[in-house]
Amino acid sequence: MFLTASLYVALAIFGLALIYKVSTWFRFKIGIESTQISTPKRFFAAVKGILSTLFSARILTLLKVFLLDVLLQFRILKEDTLRWVMHICIYAGFFLLLFMHALDKYITVAIWKNYYSTINPFMFLRDLFGVLVIIGVAIAIYRRFILKVPRLFSKAMDIYAIILVAVIMLSGIFLEATKMIAYSDYQRMVNEYSGLSDPQELKALEAYWVKEFGTVSPNLRGPFDEKTLAQGKDLHQSSCAECHARPQWAFAGYGTAKVIRPIGLGIDQARLPSILWYIHILACFVGLAYLPFSKMFHIFTSALSLLANSVMEKGKSSPANIATRQALELDACTHCGTCSLRCSVIMAFEEIKNMNIFPSEKIASIKALASGKELSAGELKHIQEGVYLCTNCYRCTVVCPVGINLQDLWFNVRETLLQKGYPEFFALSPLSFYRGLMREETVQKDYEKPLIRAREAIASQCDLMKRKEKVLPLTPADRPLQSGLNLSAQAKTFSVCFGCQTCTTVCPVVSNYENPQEVLGLLPHQIMHAAGLGLRDLAFGSNMLWDCLTCYQCQEQCPQGVSVTDVLYELKNLAIKHVREKAL
Ligand code: SF4
Ligand code: SF4
Ligand code: SF4
Ligand code: SF4
Repeated sequence: MFLTASLYVALAIFGLALIYKVSTWFRFKIGIESTQISTPKRFFAAVKGILSTLFSARILTLLKVFLLDVLLQFRILKEDTLRWVMHICIYAGFFLLLFMHALDKYITVAIWKNYYSTINPFMFLRDLFGVLVIIGVAIAIYRRFILKVPRLFSKAMDIYAIILVAVIMLSGIFLEATKMIAYSDYQRMVNEYSGLSDPQELKALEAYWVKEFGTVSPNLRGPFDEKTLAQGKDLHQSSCAECHARPQWAFAGYGTAKVIRPIGLGIDQARLPSILWYIHILACFVGLAYLPFSKMFHIFTSALSLLANSVMEKGKSSPANIATRQALELDACTHCGTCSLRCSVIMAFEEIKNMNIFPSEKIASIKALASGKELSAGELKHIQEGVYLCTNCYRCTVVCPVGINLQDLWFNVRETLLQKGYPEFFALSPLSFYRGLMREETVQKDYEKPLIRAREAIASQCDLMKRKEKVLPLTPADRPLQSGLNLSAQAKTFSVCFGCQTCTTVCPVVSNYENPQEVLGLLPHQIMHAAGLGLRDLAFGSNMLWDCLTCYQCQEQCPQGVSVTDVLYELKNLAIKHVREKAL
């Protein structure tokens, strides 16, 4: 009664949590575009997308990805053999145990009419699958705590998953072992199934079980004479053999039983088999209820992410489905750390201790952002720094074993933050490389808005940008001292500039405009000159500074060896520091 009620409670929690989780895939919003698509629209787009895929040639792609990446997990094999062994052991062992053992009444019995859990091959296979899972968990513990795989961070969720699986497996093996040696279990079976009543026969059967099955009897202890054992064997063959294979086949339970045999009577008297049975079953129910909240949920979501990404493409799939896929991807992340291991900007963490620099950790923060949760200014700032310290190198996307398109995720989060976060100075240039490449993904006003906001933030702290008319009548008396610029020795090379304009001539930003001065203000050679004169505000106030792509063309071509790009870069950093200190 108690167990039945527990099962229903676990199933109810599992079902409700599953509905909640799936609903988040249609509700969470990442990127500006997704805010304009309603949940019902996303749901129906997904149904339509799934049906159209299943009834098209893309089904072949799905089948291929299901076989190679979901079942055989080739993407993990490419990255790390030990991790692949761990995954295969846990996945294969877990699912085979689930289908053959936990759901035996529904699956195994339907396939094999004469199924008994105590005969072969089921007895052997149950232990084999259980041992596979234990090997997988042992490798997981070894990788995390002994090998200490770089950038594999352990969160509470990772530890809970390992503990829960370990409890289920170990309680199962100990349960099997204690049942093998428990005299009360033996007696119950004899009473229920043997039909024997003759004391001599009962003694012979018991002797045979003590010798061959490891039962610990309070009445009999070996060695036994040959005649008794032969009689016991005959009785066993006629009464028990149909339902009981030799215990050695359950090698894990049998090995454990041998170790605990000296305390077998005490174990039986303490009713340990019953206690272990409750622990095992309740741990399975807890696992079931906890599954949608736990890391183990990726068993389903990772497979879905791999399948969805294999048939979806930007520009071809509907924006509603892309929004849904991205929300699903947040659940699919296994927190394996492979992306962080390959990320190009991780060395920045040495200086800036922000965990959001690691792609694997950034994903967790983005999940909170996508859920619509109110994040503090500090949290937003951390996420913003994390997504901006990214070179768009695609390495994380290429190596992610669950196929998450991280690149798209970063871009959308950047855009979301640009629209509602702090003014972001890295995005100032309308020609900035990655954002410029993705310009068509964004509506024009959304593209311009962050640029305008960042420029306004600069202008609010820069008198000359506010009062442009004062640029021309500038007099030497207004000039701060050249040393006030406080640039590095390398950037100070502007002092040897002789104004040849080569830097301006080769600049791709300058050549992008018919009348560059009107749009950009001071051009590179003029900024060098302003810097030479110590006119900080004049340099800061020039749009050229903010539109510069840091392509280094000017610096490479300068006949005087002026580090033009470095000067621009340092001026820009000085201006941002100035603005952040004063305005934010
Ligand atoms: S795209 Fe960004 S987050 Fe991904 S590996 Fe490259 S630098 Fe790291
Ligand atoms: S994003 Fe992919 S590679 Fe990175 S931690 Fe998640 S599953 Fe692993
Ligand atoms: S190319 Fe060099 S020397 Fe010529 S204007 Fe530019 S910084 Fe000055
Ligand atoms: S680095 Fe030099 S050439 Fe390149 S965009 Fe900036 S100013 Fe122009």
